[in-house]
Amino acid sequence: MQPKSIAVHTGLLFDPKAKAFGENASVIFDVETGAIADVFERDNSDKCISNGDIDLRSKVAMPGFVDAHTHIFLHLYEERPAQEQMRDESIVERTIRATNHVRRALLSVVRCKPWGRY
Ligand SMILES: [Zn+2]
Repeated sequence: MQPKSIAVHTGLLFDPKAKAFGENASVIFDVETGAIADVFERDNSDKCISNGDIDLRSKVAMPGFVDAHTHIFLHLYEERPAQEQMRDESIVERTIRATNHVRRALLSVVRCKPWGRY
């Protein structure tokens, strides 16, 4: 049976509204809606850590930060230098590669969702 919520325990959590970091923050997500159900500061014990929780206590979590910088029309430079790709590959080939790159990027984001519903 699927749990109703999932907890993510962070070492530092960035709060974009307060523009500040909170230490030892935990976030509870509603599995059904994906919405945040609760955010709280943990004490120093491990008593609120359960099996199935996502343990990021040694990490910094920065929700909403997305690295949008991309070169979707280029493939690996080890395969061919960028200048050669732009000079020698047709717009059709480059567009097909770009489409596949975007597809792969979108699917990689979906795989990161802890509840795996999509
Ligand atoms: Zn760049």
